[in-house]
Amino acid sequence: MEQTFGTWSVRGGLRALATAVYERCLARRVEFVFDAAVVRIVEKDGRAAGVELADGTTADADFVVAGVAPTVLSRLTSGVNIRSEGDVPARTGMPSRLTVLLALSGARPEGTPHRTVLHSADRQDELDRLFGERPGLPASPTVTVLRPDDPELTPDGAHEAVTLTVTVPAHLEVSPADVERVISRAEAAIPGLRERLLWHEARTPADIAEATGAEGGAVPAPALAAAGGSLLHPANSTRLPGLFAVGGLVATPAAACPTRACRARWSPD
Ligand SMILES: Cc1cc2nc3c(=O)[nH]c(=O)nc-3n(C[C@H](O)[C@H](O)[C@H](O)COP(=O)(O)OP(=O)(O)OC[C@H]3O[C@@H](n4cnc5c(N)ncnc54)[C@H](O)[C@@H]3O)c2cc1C
Repeated sequence: MEQTFGTWSVRGGLRALATAVYERCLARRVEFVFDAAVVRIVEKDGRAAGVELADGTTADADFVVAGVAPTVLSRLTSGVNIRSEGDVPARTGMPSRLTVLLALSGARPEGTPHRTVLHSADRQDELDRLFGERPGLPASPTVTVLRPDDPELTPDGAHEAVTLTVTVPAHLEVSPADVERVISRAEAAIPGLRERLLWHEARTPADIAEATGAEGGAVPAPALAAAGGSLLHPANSTRLPGLFAVGGLVATPAAACPTRACRARWSPD
């Protein structure tokens, strides 16, 4: 899509996309049950027959389609590796993201670029840290500065909402000093940033792990029709008839992408 139509962003932020999908599903009579953690996939006569929820209730089903991380799915099936033969082992050295959301006073200047990438001054150091060979955030991380021209992101035209993203190793424990370093790097793209900064909020790999169940907050790698098919996701069937695995976390090309050179193709941005 990007090659054909160019890059795009969602007006109102990515949450607006989730809301649009949610409303469309309601119109198609999909029922949602929120705050209902699944603790077990119920098996009956050798096939998936429903899910057990944290409150002890069960929901019967003809098929169970699980959109969760492989490690979560294993827990739900009593630790059994439920994926089919030839499945890839758990991934190591996979990237996550550190996102820093900035609330700025003052309007977004006319003609501001939507996206600016501030490249690392030391690419080798960044790659070594990303793929687990050296711990911690690089001294000069690559920072993507997003400044969308979207009035729905601010209370009025006298403010600006800016998002900073950094590709970091999964499991990275982010300190306040790390966040400050990322903000300082962004000053190169946003003159007067410190004077304009009202508040900021950081979303770390730990936050991603908590929200999604992805180990260490690892971001699912894209499925790509390249490299002889080695970057594609495996089939979504499992060893348990009636249970299917879907979504970005289904089993990212973990094994499919075992070498550093391979992983470097899709990360950092
Ligand atoms: C910071 C960040 C930036 C990203 N940037 C991009 C990008 O620019 N482009 C791109 O294409 N992709 C990007 N991605 C990846 C993309 O967001 C994911 O691939 C996609 O959201 C995966 O969707 P999903 O539905 O498979 O899983 P998720 O969105 O992770 O949904 C899984 C859901 O399962 C729920 N869950 C887990 N365990 C249970 C349980 N036991 N019971 C009930 N519910 C449970 C979780 O709460 C969660 O809601 C990014 C991801 C992150 C974190």
